[in-house]
This record gives sequence, C-alpha cells and structure tokens, in this order.
Amino acid sequence: MRDSISVVISAYNESESVNELYKELTKVMKELPLKTYELIFVDDGSSDDTYEKCQKLQKKDSHVKIVHLRRNFGHEIAMTAGMDYAKGDAVVFMDADLQHPPHYIKDMVKYWQEGDDIVLTKRVENQATSKFYDFCAASFYKILNFLSDTKIPAKTPDFRLVDRSYVDFLKKFNEQDRLFRGLLSWAMPREKVKIIDFVAPDRFAGVSKYNYRKSLALAFNSIVQFSTRPLRMSIYLGLITAFISGCLGLYVIIEHFILRHPTPGYATIMTTVIFLGSIQLIVLGIIGEYIGKIHMEVKKRPLYIAEYKDNETKDKK
Ligand code: UDP
Ligand code: MG
Repeated sequence: MRDSISVVISAYNESESVNELYKELTKVMKELPLKTYELIFVDDGSSDDTYEKCQKLQKKDSHVKIVHLRRNFGHEIAMTAGMDYAKGDAVVFMDADLQHPPHYIKDMVKYWQEGDDIVLTKRVENQATSKFYDFCAASFYKILNFLSDTKIPAKTPDFRLVDRSYVDFLKKFNEQDRLFRGLLSWAMPREKVKIIDFVAPDRFAGVSKYNYRKSLALAFNSIVQFSTRPLRMSIYLGLITAFISGCLGLYVIIEHFILRHPTPGYATIMTTVIFLGSIQLIVLGIIGEYIGKIHMEVKKRPLYIAEYKDNETKDKK
C-alpha cells in the first residue's frame, strides 16, 4: 500500500523555523492523495525552545509526533531516530530550516505512488553556500567516489523519500558512525530511483550547524566508513618512498666511490629523516582513524536516548 507518509524533520536549535515549516508542510500534506500522514519532529537536544514549540504544535494537531533526544546526537542519528519511530508506508526526510521546500514532496509522493521506491533530490543551486564551499564539496565527492566502492552522488542532500521496504532494511544497520546517503547508495535499487532537481533557498532563520570544521570531520568520516582504500594506499606510499630512498642511496654510493666527491651529509640526512618521519606519521594517522572507528563500534552502545510523544502515548521510551 502506498497511502501513508511519515515526514521526519531533524531540528537542532530551529525554534524560529518550526512554526513556518509546520504551516507549509501541513498545507502540502493536506493536498496529497493519502489516507494519513504524520510529521515527526526530531528535536536533537536543542538548547533553545524548539522542543516547547513542537509540543505546542502537537497539542493542537495529532499528526504531529515528537522524538525528543536527550542531548545533541548529530544530524545523522537524529534522522535515524525519526525513522525508527515512523509508521508510514514511506518516509520523507527533510531539514527544519526550510532549505528543503515542502512543495517538492508533492512530486516525491507522485513518483512513489507510480512505483519508484526511492525519490532523491538533486540540488541544482544552493543559495546559502559560497562558491568556495561548493568547490570544496564537489572535490570531496570526487575524492570519496575515487576511494570508495560505494558511489555517492554529489549534491543529493538529506531531502528524500524512502519506501517502507527500504526503511525496514536501513533499520538493520546499527553502526554508530553513519552517513545516511552512503547507506542508501549501498542499498539502492538503481532502476527504481527517481531524482528530482531542486533549488535550495537560504535558511528561513538561524545559522547553519555545519561549519567548515564539522563538514571536514564529516568528510573524513565518510571516507573511513565507506572505504579501506587509504590503508592500501599507505602501502603504495611506503613502496614509493622506499624506491626514492633506494635511488638516493645509490646516488650517494656512486658519488662516493665513482665520482669521488662525497655528498655533505647533514642536509641530506635531515631532509630524508624528516620526509620519512612525516610519511610514517601520516600512515600511523590513517591506521589510527580506522582503529578509532573499530573501538567505537565494538562497544555497541545504543545509538541515542529518546522520548517519543504522540497524542496516544504521552511518554514512551
Ligand atoms: N541538525 C540536527 N542536529 C545537528 C545539526 C543539525 O538535527 O547536530 C539539523 C538542523 O536543525 C537542520 C538539518 O539538520 O534541520 C541540517 O543542518 P544545517 O541546516 O545546519 O546544515 P546545512 O543545511 O547548512 O548543511
Ligand atoms: Mg540547512
């Protein structure tokens, strides 16, 4: 059956946008050919009054459900928590800042009801980011897709519809450190995916929670999660430097015994030692990243701690 939708909205300090988003979303949802829908606001441990605003909405509209995370767990976990509580035949994921305009949900639902299992969006323009940021993002996807076997399409943000069959499948992944779009690419049936172009406007209010530092951390994480190729490349790097130092050694021997004018040692030794030391540190760092991930994953901690609220169940864990 394809007649009920859960919209999962991750919100972290989005107090100023929540009401406007609710208004626009409700208007769209009411026009859709659906039996029922639910709007799941996931409050990702906001420190402003996002949660209180959601509670007010929930009191007046039973379509509104709240997943209240006890602290800030990050966007990826917030989406996971919302998905875990969703009951619809499909789940639409979106941000709370109106950068994912609700009216595109009409097309998503149309394609889904026509038989597509996953409807992605492709951002043809982002009015909120600088040219430099767009360049960094594009370079990151090139590097990621070069390193990884799981290809993740660029410019496909976390605004998408996923059919229940794939939602149930995605729920089986319980890795701590997750990148939703990567997991989806891993599982995706290419032939039943539709992509809609969209223009992302600037935020309705507030500021982005992803600064350059957080985006870079996400980029590194994504590479480590979806590829072990950097480990293999460390071996190649070791082989290349071994070759270079072999050539250097040969040159020194030739200079000493054949050309008979020995190279002054100090500068050469220092440069070589620093060069090899840096390579070793880089390689150790790469290995460390992977060991760190293993360390976090083997603990098998719960992904989040949440309270769920809807009109029937006032307080359920
Ligand atoms: N978000 C979240 N938890 C976080 C950071 C962000 O739930 O720790 C939400 C945020 O409220 C927004 C969405 O994730 O609805 C995307 O974040 P943001 O708009 O800051 O990212 P950008 O669009 O600038 O990449
Ligand atoms: Mg945003």
